[in-house]
Amino acid sequence: MRILSVFVALLLLGQSAAWAQNTDAVNALCKKISNKLASVSYQECAGLSYDQPRYFSANEQPILETHFSANPEIKDPIRILFIGGIHGDEYSSVSVTFKWLNKLKKHHSGAFDWHFLPLANPDGLLRKRSTRVNANNVDLNRNFIPAQGGLTPLDHWHIHAGKRARYYPGEKPLSEPESQVIHRLIEEYRPTVIVSVHAPHGILDFDGDQQPPERLGPLQLRHLGTYPGSLGNYSWFVKSVPVLTIELPYAGIMPSPKDISHMWVDLVRWVRYKSKPEEQVAEKN
Ligand SMILES: [Zn+2]
Repeated sequence: MRILSVFVALLLLGQSAAWAQNTDAVNALCKKISNKLASVSYQECAGLSYDQPRYFSANEQPILETHFSANPEIKDPIRILFIGGIHGDEYSSVSVTFKWLNKLKKHHSGAFDWHFLPLANPDGLLRKRSTRVNANNVDLNRNFIPAQGGLTPLDHWHIHAGKRARYYPGEKPLSEPESQVIHRLIEEYRPTVIVSVHAPHGILDFDGDQQPPERLGPLQLRHLGTYPGSLGNYSWFVKSVPVLTIELPYAGIMPSPKDISHMWVDLVRWVRYKSKPEEQVAEKN
């Protein structure tokens, strides 16, 4: 019995040590996320190790960043910048990102380098009634620098978006702290590809010149096109970084555990395929 209680005490100590490496602000945010989202437990959020918070939302919530490094012997690894919850009312995009993060925590092979922002718009999610927009009522996915030659996001909003509040792009690109974080990460981290998770269109979209995946689990490829100020438009047409957009089928209903696994396996397979040298890919064709 005594051995058992020592064992349990050690186990608890181990767990609290694993959580303690996150700052109080991070753990407090995890508490709020798990209170808001029935499908994310406190442990699924706080059990991950985050970087010391560097960036904060308009309401001063930390922007969570967690990193899984590639093995150091891999020279110039594939770097994946993974973004969940850029729209605060798309609950499943945050919850599924945490499910995938917990899979990665268990099975990270070191073949690629991953950098995650599981919740890019914490203020939108944590409002009493969650919103697509951030605390300044800006749609972050319209707040990036637009491709040259097109309309500005604000003109596009006036002319083509019926000035609907949900799509308000802000007075000027990168006016918001949350979009500035993504902009900075694109510059600093130099991702090979960006994966961004949304809902509820139930498809995959891709902006880039490589072969996109035909499907991820139940989601099939369908090009939606980009809007001035959207991440896809900015990342590919301004920064030449391809973007895979995952649109889950429902904002408020989780995909089945089987589909969550299936999408992840297909995503990793696609990244692995992309990482092969050209000639090897050609041989396989
Ligand atoms: Zn969205």
